[in-house]
Amino acid sequence: MAAAVTDPILLTPGPLTTSATVKEAMLRDWGSRDDAFIAINRRIRDRLVEMAGGVGSHVCVPIQGSGTFAIEATVGTLLPREGKLLVLVNGAYGQRIVRMTRVMGRIATAIETPEDTPVSPSDLDAALAADPAVTHVAVVHCETTSGILNPVAEVAAVCKDRGRALIVDAMSAFGALPIDAREVPFDAVVASANKCLEGAPGMGFAIVRKDALTAGKGNAHSLSLDLFEQWQGFEANGQWRFTPPTHVIAAFERALEEHAAEGGVEGRGNRYRRNHRVLVDGMTALGFEMLVPAPLQAPIIVTFLMPANPRFVFTAFYDRLRAKGFVIYPGKLTVADSFRIGCIGRIDEDCVRAALTAIEATLDEMGVESGAPARPGKASG
Ligand SMILES: *Cc1c(COP(=O)(O)O)cnc(C)c1O
Repeated sequence: MAAAVTDPILLTPGPLTTSATVKEAMLRDWGSRDDAFIAINRRIRDRLVEMAGGVGSHVCVPIQGSGTFAIEATVGTLLPREGKLLVLVNGAYGQRIVRMTRVMGRIATAIETPEDTPVSPSDLDAALAADPAVTHVAVVHCETTSGILNPVAEVAAVCKDRGRALIVDAMSAFGALPIDAREVPFDAVVASANKCLEGAPGMGFAIVRKDALTAGKGNAHSLSLDLFEQWQGFEANGQWRFTPPTHVIAAFERALEEHAAEGGVEGRGNRYRRNHRVLVDGMTALGFEMLVPAPLQAPIIVTFLMPANPRFVFTAFYDRLRAKGFVIYPGKLTVADSFRIGCIGRIDEDCVRAALTAIEATLDEMGVESGAPARPGKASG
């Protein structure tokens, strides 16, 4: 399960630790017009549509770049130029969708909730009732800023009742937390190869309702980030419009095979839930407290409040853990000083236990007896 011995374990929101076999899949050069390469793309696209419960209704359109490129392409293609996007924001990734929409010169509004609070379907319902100009709604499935899980099914139900289209940023959830178009109606779910699907970074994709994508023709603000044209390219000859990240795609197919072998979304989610449990129990035992109460947390990444002990200096803590082979992540919160530890990627409970041992040793070295924060956290283990 572990990566090559020389690589650190990445306990981050991405890029993530990948299996040796996923890395090995990148040792070949492919021609973009090669029949075998075209077939890989077809299989990947089909598998992702199936994973989202979209067979018959939805298509998968991959796109080069990091996850943000895929979200930007999706918003830019689905939102008409005269449309209006309402974004449910409770973290940096929701904010990013507002910003990108405005950069495109389109109208975006937001309903903001604090970073430790899920977005509110009832507030959404009221906002949609009050503003008929809103054509599209965007929500982040797992807000990786804090690790909070948003009520995507309830949000989708409100959008359906009110006749508005829904775009889901499922970047850090897809592949580990279920989302099925037959139960959770959506126009688009956007994710990338490198989070819970454990491929290499370099491509994202959107699972889009066919009718919505067809209607998106001509909306895009950008030549390269045009999801409709990208789709037309695949439909025409199975090829990417511009140079595909061939190695990343080959690795992604391997990663999807490993995902299926692990038991698909359920199996992957179960491993992450075990990682999450071990992490939360171990950190709680060391005195650390979480920002988000346990029942509201996704098993993806956990935000811990900064310890009160003045001998705890985050950069030193980070460097010492890195020297022991573990990479954690700084906080991204506006409300509290914090850091994050991820549960995703090719890691198991033993990796998490080893990380906890390294954390305990590091606290000892720093002379920090407890990870307890200055103000009591809202959460308990
Ligand atoms: C990782 C992530 C993204 C995309 O980030 P990139 O750095 O562009 O890959 C978008 N939304 C969420 C919720 C994420 O976790």
